[in-house]
Amino acid sequence: MIVSSSSAVRVAVVGAAGRMGGQTCAAVEAAEDLELVARIGAGDDVAAVVRESGAQVAVDFSVPAATEANVHAALDAGADVVVGTTGWDDDSRGRVAEHLERLAAAGDGPGPGVLIAPNFGLSAVLAMTFAARAARYFESAEVVELHHPDKVDAPSGTARHTAAAIAAARAEAGLEPSPDATQNGWDARGADVDGVRVHAVRLRGLVAHEEILFGNAGEQLTIRQDSFDRASFMPGVLLAVREVGSRPGLTVGLENVLDLS
Ligand code: NAP
Repeated sequence: MIVSSSSAVRVAVVGAAGRMGGQTCAAVEAAEDLELVARIGAGDDVAAVVRESGAQVAVDFSVPAATEANVHAALDAGADVVVGTTGWDDDSRGRVAEHLERLAAAGDGPGPGVLIAPNFGLSAVLAMTFAARAARYFESAEVVELHHPDKVDAPSGTARHTAAAIAAARAEAGLEPSPDATQNGWDARGADVDGVRVHAVRLRGLVAHEEILFGNAGEQLTIRQDSFDRASFMPGVLLAVREVGSRPGLTVGLENVLDLS
């Protein structure tokens, strides 16, 4: 559904009827420098609505099965894209990066931008950043993510992103794999993300939480973050909406937009 148009940054929200999409619509409407021009839901033609609404930025909070197609459609319609939907892997990110390169090569300027953020919460982004920094100093590392039981994908994108960052830091430091004598019962050891074990808990009453566990002989470091309310994601979402237009190409992770150096 096309809502309206004006001179502020025009934003379309994909998955607008969902929990995150609804919050995003409200946050965009409350921001003076942004204007909500379209609410897009399942069954809508994303490219057509983005084009007709004149949206400059499309924000996708839909479902893992639809998000990649939505991003390609929004790019074809001329919008920059902010993605909060989880479920992205190297292949899907690679296809979006290729699409962006094609668009950049076909135009005069640097081309559009796509910002995929597995987590827009400041506490989660800081936890991931601190975990990546700590990773090289510990023999063992595992990630536990805990979410509400209505979440459809597991492990969470945040946990995958955290584990991948830990794995990269361990590889760079030349660490061996975390010690693990398991010979059977691998199902109980969680998912393997680049060699880092990730465990997913689904429990009524939870929202979004993550624990990163590091161990050495005789010591342990636990980094924990808790998101209690979806409102906590909105400052990060709005920051991404404001920044994506000046970041051509693919950016993965809100930490790249925050000054965390
Ligand atoms: P939700 O309440 O289930 O909302 C998803 C919405 O997407 C629904 O309104 C759904 O419509 C709609 N939808 C389904 N297929 C679609 C399509 N092809 N095109 C457009 N819209 C479509 O889910 P949520 O809790 O808002 O979460 C959405 C996503 O954001 C999930 O992947 C979640 O893990 C992620 N998330 C990310 C962050 C972050 O910080 N990055 C934070 C929280 C959640 P119907 O109900 O009609 O099917």
